[in-house]
Amino acid sequence: MPGAPGVVRIAACLALLLVGFAAKAADEPATRTIEAEGATVRVDFQSLDFQHGTAPIVTWIEHSMRTVARYYGQFPAKQLRIRVTSRDGGRVRHGTTYGTAVPFIRLQLGRDVTDDELRNDWVLVHEMVHLALPEVGDDHLWLTEGLSTYVEGIARVHSGDRKAERVWAELVRSMPNGLPAPGDEGLDHTHTWGRTYWGGALFCMLADVEIRKKTSNRFGLRDAMRAVLRQSGGVAFDWPIDRVLKVGDEATGTTVLQDLYAHMKDKPVSPDLEDLWRQLGIRPRGDSVELQDDVPLAATRKAIMAP
Ligand SMILES: [Zn+2]
Repeated sequence: MPGAPGVVRIAACLALLLVGFAAKAADEPATRTIEAEGATVRVDFQSLDFQHGTAPIVTWIEHSMRTVARYYGQFPAKQLRIRVTSRDGGRVRHGTTYGTAVPFIRLQLGRDVTDDELRNDWVLVHEMVHLALPEVGDDHLWLTEGLSTYVEGIARVHSGDRKAERVWAELVRSMPNGLPAPGDEGLDHTHTWGRTYWGGALFCMLADVEIRKKTSNRFGLRDAMRAVLRQSGGVAFDWPIDRVLKVGDEATGTTVLQDLYAHMKDKPVSPDLEDLWRQLGIRPRGDSVELQDDVPLAATRKAIMAP
């Protein structure tokens, strides 16, 4: 029976493969607990079939926690649950944050995701920034998404993961998405993708610049949002938007957030972005930017990106 040994060999190989897979899966627990930045994070892996194992993912979660803790002066939740699922391919695919009593982040990653892809990705920092803002209701989703959109890049510059030029280039390229289109009725009443993510980010950037102008760069949006986190406890709590903006303003000794909200909530407001970039000393050059220091708001631009 010339064929038999071959069949046996194949069967043996299959058995070894199965043993190998089982051993790998058994080595890696489906649940990991991370204690870092004063927080306890339970990570549930719904699947263990990641090509490079789960260790790089755990490292990435810890690194993202440090990044967000650095921006806020503390990690914005004492307890957090993260559920990780996998799908075909690479990259970080998707994240969603839920403001339950113990906040919860769902992450979907490609099972071939690499260290590099994790380190260069924005999704988890964006989601963790959501933890710092109380729930403000559906009409104000622009503040929730805008804050995460604006803060994510800046926080990653502060942690040394990104260059300020790259993040400014991204803001110059994407911020026009946040400008009102014909028929716009202000941030509270226009729930399009552009106005929610980039209209909200535009609000945050204008507020950041204005707070710094009014306080000679002593304070910025970061100080306002740190105070909101300290007093509210973050995403597990419901706050009216007026309270968020008032507490933020009190922390900087200004009324910038409340004034800007009154200005932008009910009507289309189109700030002159070209002029703002000029004042900040940000000159587009190809797909990057050149930063200039002989402009009125150069110190403000630097203060925004300074850790
Ligand atoms: Zn988001």
